[in-house]
Amino acid sequence: MINDKEGDQYDIAVIGSGPGGYIAAIRAAQLGFKTAIMERYSSLGGTCTNVGCIPAKALLDSTEHYYQAATKFSAHGILTSDLKMDFGKMLKRKEDVVRQNVSGINYLMKKNKIDVYHGHAKLMDKSTIAVQAEAGIKTITSRHVILATGSKPASIPNVVIDKKRVISSTEALSLPARPASLLVIGGGVIGVEMASVFARLGTKVTIIEYTDMLLPTMDHELGKEIRKILIKQGVDILLAHNVESVVNGGDEVTLVCKDSTGTHKTFIGEYCLVATGRKPYTSGLGLENTKITLDKFGRVVVNERLQTGEPNIYAIGDVINGPMLAHKAEEDAVFVVEWIKGEKPSLHYNLIPSVVYTWPEIASVGLTEEQLKLQNKVYNVGKFPFSASGRARAAMESEGFTKVLTDPKYGEVLGVHIIGPRAADLIAQAVIGIHYETSDDDMTRISYAHPTYSESLKEAYLMSSGVGALNL
Ligand code: FAD
Ligand code: NAD
Repeated sequence: MINDKEGDQYDIAVIGSGPGGYIAAIRAAQLGFKTAIMERYSSLGGTCTNVGCIPAKALLDSTEHYYQAATKFSAHGILTSDLKMDFGKMLKRKEDVVRQNVSGINYLMKKNKIDVYHGHAKLMDKSTIAVQAEAGIKTITSRHVILATGSKPASIPNVVIDKKRVISSTEALSLPARPASLLVIGGGVIGVEMASVFARLGTKVTIIEYTDMLLPTMDHELGKEIRKILIKQGVDILLAHNVESVVNGGDEVTLVCKDSTGTHKTFIGEYCLVATGRKPYTSGLGLENTKITLDKFGRVVVNERLQTGEPNIYAIGDVINGPMLAHKAEEDAVFVVEWIKGEKPSLHYNLIPSVVYTWPEIASVGLTEEQLKLQNKVYNVGKFPFSASGRARAAMESEGFTKVLTDPKYGEVLGVHIIGPRAADLIAQAVIGIHYETSDDDMTRISYAHPTYSESLKEAYLMSSGVGALNL
């Protein structure tokens, strides 16, 4: 045991250094709290920075450049001969990008005078934390604790992620070479993003999805559209198929699934990526030494202030309910720290946008058409295809559409769902619109630069408000 000293007492101790944890620590330090952060890995940044958002986007960008060069450059008059992809160099760039982001977080910890403890943190009671580091156990005390321990990949019955041939997204982001074939279980966000990465490189990708659509939690038209686009990119997609077993045969994997008629099908691939969701991570956290409870999904139970069963211990991000997204974890983080400070912040999970970084990108905020139907709500639809956008035609990016759902009485914007070029950035405007309860009419009365992809939003709002599109 390393001896305690005066300096090991904190106002706020944060366990976990993902986007929830490191943002909580920074905001706490900004607000004048003596702050510590604990991370079991040697690298700060959590899933998002090390094996999630950042490396996935690095590979998505590299492979998209390659795909554009292979499929569209010649139409632009750019002639490339002997186009090749150096897989090793692509992975090295991804690792450099991760390193740059991690060193940015290290810098922010120093700049904000946050004490960083590397080691597995365990709650000994509601205010004492033991950190198991290489040098021994270090004990600290803190008035407030924020649990930001994130999540780990989840599997399905009869499928064991052995990290060799049956892999999670973590291994898929660091394969030694381009696989000839890849079976992907799950057509959710990770499934379609990783399918895009490898299909663009020429890997034979097969997605096996349990429900009858891709991205089943998003507005269903998005899943239908990305299915068509991925099929064009060469991806095989099996919907309504239940995976029954996956066996690692050494150099290949054998997957058996059953379709909706009960017929069994067998597939062989070089790897099988299991992308069937993630589960909250609380292993070895010492919850048994506290009054903190878990729900049936293993999530830490919190109240509306994100307080656990111990009022001085809060939990944020993937380890609690709500969308498992980096920016949601960040919202939770700022919310909790500002509450501790005595401010009155608010949280709106319905205003957290979702983005899928395929190309074209998919982005969504607010209610889907399916949710509105379920609530028996009447709504107007404005849907503008990118094929009618001058900017999209100039860029050869005419796949997809912008769809807005609005309330017929006051025109309030209820949901915006985009599949198209730069949808990830376009959605920010929709978040503002919904947050401030603007109407479709309001949204048509502001100027949109021409020619931009953002004009598709104006056109969709013109349609939902009943005025009618100007360019369709
Ligand atoms: P995490 O980022 O998981 O961080 C938790 C940290 O806590 C980890 O570093 C862990 O080691 C540490 N920890 C756990 N227990 C202890 C302990 N007892 N002691 C010390 N340390 C501990 N989200 C997006 O918004 N956009 C994206 O583009 C996106 N892409 C993704 C791509 C992939 C492949 C994956 C897997 C996820 C992606 N996500 C994305 C989801 C995103 O990564 C998570 O929602 C986000 O990381 C959650 O943040 P968090 O702080 O709650 O937890
Ligand atoms: P997900 O929940 O998005 O998708 C899982 C998919 O697996 C679903 O479509 C589900 O129907 C399917 N599935 C479940 N059981 C199955 C079975 N037995 N056979 C076949 N299919 C089955 O989960 P994910 O894609 O693993 O992603 C995990 C989390 O990471 C998500 O919450 C997501 O928000 C986050 N993430 C976000 C991004 C992003 O924001 N761009 C990227 C990657 C991951």
